[in-house]
Amino acid sequence: MAAAESDGDPPSASRSEFLNFSAKDTASRWLAAADLQQEVYRHLAVYVPRILCLGPSGGSGSREEQREEQREELACQLLLLAPMEWLLLGEEPAAGLAQLQENNQPSPLCGHVFKVGEPTYSCRECAADPTCVLCMQCFLGSVHKEHRYRMTTSGGGGFCDCGDAEAWKKGPYCQKHTPTDNSRDTEEDPVAQLPADMVARGYSIFSIVLKYAVDLLTWDQEEQLPAGLEPLNTSRQSKPLRVQVMHSSVVAHQCFALKALSWLGQIIQYSDGLRRILCQVGLQKGAEGENSSLVDRLMLNDSKMWKGARNIYHQLLMNSLLMDLKYKKIFAIQFAKSYERLQSDYVKDDHDREFSITDLSVQIFTVPSLARMLMVEENLMTTIIRTFVDHLRHRDLQGRFQFDRYTAQQAFKFGRVQSLIGDLKYVLISRPSEWSDQLRMKFLEGLDAFLELLKCMQGMDPVVRQVGQHIEMEPEWEAAFTLQMKLTHIISMIQEWCSADECVLIEAYRKCLGALSHCYSGLPDGEQPISLSLAGHSVETFRYQVSQDKVSIHLPVCRLLAGLHVLLSRTEVASRFPEQLPLGELSPPLLIELPLRCLVLCAQVHAGMWRRNGFSLINQIYYYHNVKCRVEMFDKDIIMLQAGASMMDPNHFLMIVLSRFELFHIFSSADVRKRYREANKDVVQQNNTLIEEMLHLIIMVVGERYVAGVGQVEPFDEVRREIIHQLSIRPMAHSELVKALPENGNKETGLERVIDTVASFKKPGVTGRGLYELRPEWNKYFNLYFHHYSRADQSKAEEAQRKLRRQNGEDTALPPPLLPPLCPLFASLVNLLQCDVLLAVEGAVLQWAVEPSGGGWTESMLQRVLHLVGMALLEEQQQLENSSGDDDVTFNYTCKITRPGEAPSTSGSVLALLESLQNAPHLEVHKDMITWILKMVTNIKTMRERTSSTSTITISPGQGPEETVRDKDKAERKRKAEMARLRREKIMAQMSEMQKHFINENKELFQQSLEELEASTSATAENRRVGRAERRQLVTCILCQEEQEVRGHGRAMVLAAFVQRSTVLSKNRRRNLPDPERHDPLFMHPDLSLGIHTASCGHIMHATCWQRYFEAVQLKEQRRQQRLRGHTSYDVENGEFLCPLCECLSNTVIPLLPHTPSPDHSVNHSCLEEWLETTNQQIALLHSANKKQSDAGGAEPVVPEGFRVDFTPQNPFSSSISEMITTFSMSTYKVGLKVNPNEQDHRVPVLSWSTCAYTIQSIERFLMDEEKPLFGSLPCRQDDCLSSLTRFSSACWTAAPLKTVHTHFFRLFAALVPDSQVENTPCILDIDMFHLLVSFIIEHQFKSTHLHLLHLVTVAHLVQILLTSTTEEVCMDQDSGGSEEEELTCQLYDTLRKHLGGVLPEVSSGWQLWRCVKAGVLPFLRAATLFFHYLNSTAPPADLLVAGPGQWEALCSYLSLPSNLLQLHQSQHTQLEWCRHPGVTQTLQGGGVIVRFPRESNRLIELPEDYSVLINQASSFTCPRSGGDKSRAPTLCLVCGSMLCSQSYCCQTEVDGEDVGACTAHTFTCGAGLGLFLRVRESQVLFVAGKTKGCFYPPPYLDDYGETDQGLKRGNPLHLCSERYRKIERLWRQHGIAEVIGHAQEANQTLVAIDWQHL
Ligand SMILES: [Zn+2]
Ligand SMILES: [Zn+2]
Ligand SMILES: [Zn+2]
Ligand SMILES: [Zn+2]
Ligand SMILES: [Zn+2]
Ligand SMILES: [Zn+2]
Ligand SMILES: [Zn+2]
Repeated sequence: MAAAESDGDPPSASRSEFLNFSAKDTASRWLAAADLQQEVYRHLAVYVPRILCLGPSGGSGSREEQREEQREELACQLLLLAPMEWLLLGEEPAAGLAQLQENNQPSPLCGHVFKVGEPTYSCRECAADPTCVLCMQCFLGSVHKEHRYRMTTSGGGGFCDCGDAEAWKKGPYCQKHTPTDNSRDTEEDPVAQLPADMVARGYSIFSIVLKYAVDLLTWDQEEQLPAGLEPLNTSRQSKPLRVQVMHSSVVAHQCFALKALSWLGQIIQYSDGLRRILCQVGLQKGAEGENSSLVDRLMLNDSKMWKGARNIYHQLLMNSLLMDLKYKKIFAIQFAKSYERLQSDYVKDDHDREFSITDLSVQIFTVPSLARMLMVEENLMTTIIRTFVDHLRHRDLQGRFQFDRYTAQQAFKFGRVQSLIGDLKYVLISRPSEWSDQLRMKFLEGLDAFLELLKCMQGMDPVVRQVGQHIEMEPEWEAAFTLQMKLTHIISMIQEWCSADECVLIEAYRKCLGALSHCYSGLPDGEQPISLSLAGHSVETFRYQVSQDKVSIHLPVCRLLAGLHVLLSRTEVASRFPEQLPLGELSPPLLIELPLRCLVLCAQVHAGMWRRNGFSLINQIYYYHNVKCRVEMFDKDIIMLQAGASMMDPNHFLMIVLSRFELFHIFSSADVRKRYREANKDVVQQNNTLIEEMLHLIIMVVGERYVAGVGQVEPFDEVRREIIHQLSIRPMAHSELVKALPENGNKETGLERVIDTVASFKKPGVTGRGLYELRPEWNKYFNLYFHHYSRADQSKAEEAQRKLRRQNGEDTALPPPLLPPLCPLFASLVNLLQCDVLLAVEGAVLQWAVEPSGGGWTESMLQRVLHLVGMALLEEQQQLENSSGDDDVTFNYTCKITRPGEAPSTSGSVLALLESLQNAPHLEVHKDMITWILKMVTNIKTMRERTSSTSTITISPGQGPEETVRDKDKAERKRKAEMARLRREKIMAQMSEMQKHFINENKELFQQSLEELEASTSATAENRRVGRAERRQLVTCILCQEEQEVRGHGRAMVLAAFVQRSTVLSKNRRRNLPDPERHDPLFMHPDLSLGIHTASCGHIMHATCWQRYFEAVQLKEQRRQQRLRGHTSYDVENGEFLCPLCECLSNTVIPLLPHTPSPDHSVNHSCLEEWLETTNQQIALLHSANKKQSDAGGAEPVVPEGFRVDFTPQNPFSSSISEMITTFSMSTYKVGLKVNPNEQDHRVPVLSWSTCAYTIQSIERFLMDEEKPLFGSLPCRQDDCLSSLTRFSSACWTAAPLKTVHTHFFRLFAALVPDSQVENTPCILDIDMFHLLVSFIIEHQFKSTHLHLLHLVTVAHLVQILLTSTTEEVCMDQDSGGSEEEELTCQLYDTLRKHLGGVLPEVSSGWQLWRCVKAGVLPFLRAATLFFHYLNSTAPPADLLVAGPGQWEALCSYLSLPSNLLQLHQSQHTQLEWCRHPGVTQTLQGGGVIVRFPRESNRLIELPEDYSVLINQASSFTCPRSGGDKSRAPTLCLVCGSMLCSQSYCCQTEVDGEDVGACTAHTFTCGAGLGLFLRVRESQVLFVAGKTKGCFYPPPYLDDYGETDQGLKRGNPLHLCSERYRKIERLWRQHGIAEVIGHAQEANQTLVAIDWQHL
């Protein structure tokens, strides 16, 4: 056989082998053999090396390689796989497989594997956890599409969970996957449905193939093959050659092994029975016992395999084991058994997790029943935690983690180990509803392991205050916080598990307490305790100072205990048998010690005592309070203080707090205070801040009761309170609220459950977003000292609340809100409010406040004390209200504050102090609050008296007896408040002046003010327009503020303007951009594929002022470029600048010209015919004159008599105006043709006419589509722009040589009156008649001929319309009447038909033709009306100042046209000439683009209502260049609808020698350099202009909360907001995109520049 010749290269399989080979025969030979494996192996040994001699080819190579690959593929199928299929099926494979599939009763799992970028859906109400997702098909057929769902795009891998009952709390099946009677019971064995002999064959062939594949993929020798696969004869070969042959054979077999695995994956899709057989084969234990099954061998060798191999076998596992519910369990156990080993392999591996077998954990552990089983049977929780801890070996002497000295490598490894926490989260994510003893035991065992982990974190990364000099190196803090952040949800979940079972909870509490005691063993208890005494109480404590000793912010063991303590407080045990609680092991002072230190650290950092410790500490403090961490950090520290305080004498608690805050001495002796006042100012300030912080802490310890278990509240009360306090700052968008609330492990905040009860939703307008506003009835719950407020939040909220109260005519006191009652375990906390030490502190502060300028107290300090007093009074009032008699009210604060103060606070009682402060002039701000307090005191006294005598009557603090006194008081206060307000406003005004130059930072604000400006100016425009023609025009220069009259010979005045190419009106986007050098712009094609648009902001300057300004801009730009690189928002080199007044992007100026009445001294031609004749003669004369001139060579031209009259020789303008005329001409020339300026080019004036015509056309279209009247609705700036543009155009001939002007005229005239001497005249179907009209009129300076020209062009347009109008005929019974118009139209049409032969279809309906003509010609008439209005400065007819019907007559009469336009055509002669042009017939027969009239306005493409439709569309979009690869950033052109592969090297192209991305390249073909795109995966609109400029713009898709989701981070369903889309469209149609880009870039100059051209 061929093997003998296989020296050197193994030859590839020859054609004859294909022909002679029979898969069927081979299969039967195998079946007959005694040892099947031996036979199959022998077959493979022969064929595999020969077929796959090349080995795996690396990606798509040359064509040759691709062909080779295809050949290999075919050979594999025919020679290798087909025999196996025959063997398995016993019949022709195609038929056999079809049969299998038909008989298969599939399980209801969908199992669709996701592509990269494909949308996935999860239900926020029904998904068991956020990893449960549906594919789009299943989602659309499920109940969840009506629920609150979340949409994301898949990162690839993972599959659809439709049909998995455990993944969904509700609705697990979509319509397609709902189990029917037909589908099999999940318990039933699918193998039983297969024929017995096939089952037997299946077992044998599957085990042979799978073993073969596993052997080879895990094979690690190059020189040898597994037994049975060796080449048949090897004896003759010499060693080195043999090695090489062996090596390539090994590669070939490995290559086939992968194909074999894919084959297995495909085969089992046909039959669940075969799938189960494969599962059994894969998990069958091998001879070596444990971990010896084929699947085990694959998994254990995972990290040794190359990426491609891993992908293929992972895919097979997903298709087989994970799709079979029975074997999924068995596999899960194997996976858990090998867990530690697999993870260790992964940590050492260098591929991403998506290529690791460990990534399958998400598929297994998120199934609650599996997770629970693995926990009980394989002790999974403990395993995961232990594995994790084992991998973090870097510890300090006490065995704690040491992150602050991490090296890069350790940090990398830490990054990989973190995925284990993810696994732990999967296991814990659904809490059990039922517990078995086994589960309890294993969970507690896991908890032990977890406590070990927390113990390693307790006290890690400690800090010591730096005094003297600043720290040298910032310690690394992020790793520790990353760990904390990752564990936050785990810790919360563990608490949730504990709360589900009382026994578990108590045991967990005990264990946690034990762990904490262990941690405390390190505290210095040998030292002598110090004794503190104050206000008649004394206590002993440690000698410890935060400002001198080590302190750590990481206290997870304490915090877990705090969490468990709260849970205990919620149980039955706590309320009925508190003695059974295991509380006693640690003394309360020890419990509070560490959390208190941490809180004091924060206070000291706040007071500026830790400045020298750098940013690291500041960041840590920030995260300690941040919403991502605070639940298991700050919040729990407060709870621990609450727990400790509730178990202690309140006086003792407060003394310890004072001592830890290092403030004890200040309140224990009056002298110290005095001494400090004279001492160092810094120290005084520090102490003041510390006192404020301490008072705040006391407020929080007593007042924070919204955690279920501390206070008697429900969990949603907590969320509601958070929302109330966020909205008290200001109205907020949904996403802002979500960000401010902590998420649980399911990424839920609970916001939606309560938001509608507390807030009302305000829909967004065309900009901005929807906002929630707090309903007024919730204002009373506002607490100024809400524990989650930052200082900034607090002051903003205070301001907002005071303002609100003023608006409602209320006083400005912000008393504490009523609080929910405490749970029994925390009940004694209220006693803090009335304890002697606190009264002493309150007394002291009030005493200090008596002195206005003591410097030893602060307003915030006083405010906090007043708040505490208020809290105490409210508590007393509540107790009184709830009690039946006076006896059981233990709280008697009102009584205590009347007692005179004890030493050291010398004078008066607290009450007396308050009364004396009430009228202190320096405490005006607090007056309302003090008044409120005093009123409360009176009320409570009255209540006490009444309750003691009769019954309880509630008196709210609002209604007192001294109503009148109060009113007087109120009036006085109001006056003062008013004065204060005025003063504030003045200051605010000054501030805003200063902030004005920051306005650019707020784009939206700027936009808004612009719109306002526009509205106001357009109103005045109305007045100005009337009678403008008569008035002398006086204008003011915005730069020098001088007034100037616009005169032909005066100083030139100019308007800032922006000229750009435009394709907005284009009816043909496939036309290529013209070649700048050879393009002839004289005739515009009616497809308007490329126009020049001019816009202006309407701001006027002296030409000289502008020139000076522009030079300054240039200079500044040069200097700036030297300093720092990067783009400005405008391109100075291209003449761009920002209008000095409104910063509108501009690139040229239009000169303002006076209205010059045209000389009207030519002969009055009686009719069109006559005039044509004369003109023809004149032209003939000119022709000959020109000829003579060129013959004579520079001699004086002989101007024919007839033309001389029409010639105005002298230039009517001053030199400065002429210069500006040239400037603007050059700009339109430069931009329009994209060439360098060249004044000699004869095309220069043509472009000026062209931009005039195009700008008018585009404005006419816009007014039409917006249904606005033709006159009176344009904003002033557009009005000014059109007027000066038209006047400029009519004067631009002065800047061109006479001969050029004549030549253009000949050519234009020849288009309508054919002239044999003029060449290259386009046919009338290829001319835009309005452009022609404008060129004609502007060139021909004499009014009397204007009418003739208008008539001529109009008739041409009518013919043009008729020629293109009728392709399909709509029959309507309207033609019976037959008006004059209709008849004439029919006549004209028939004449045209006769002359053109059969090209035009027959039309019988005159009515329809006329309708067509009328509609078709209307835009032309409107544009012409606008044009003549600006040209002649005539007043517009009243009928055109309103929109609506009646336009036609008004237009015709304004233009002096008969309203029956057909009357115009009298000379059939010319019309025939037009038709004779060969271009007409050619175009009509399909030889060119036929543009029909009226040209429909271009709109942006239609977008689907549901954003996911777009995502889905984009996910199946492949890069057009790299053969079927997925595009990373699919981007949709909003103008033409093309999908592009953006931001990727594959689709970069070269434009003018520069590499640009697909978007930029597309703009050059689609939008003449300007483009609008939707980046589908980012949900972002992209504007691009030219190669360097671009910006992102909010997309027109909003979620239900009126917000966009740029970057698709939140995943709320998005729907099209058509108003916003129309806004973008309007921006585009008004040529405003470049302007928006300019502003965006101006505002974001500081940001990192984006390379727009590469998008
Ligand atoms: Zn699906
Ligand atoms: Zn489904
Ligand atoms: Zn649902
Ligand atoms: Zn000026
Ligand atoms: Zn301006
Ligand atoms: Zn496009
Ligand atoms: Zn591409």
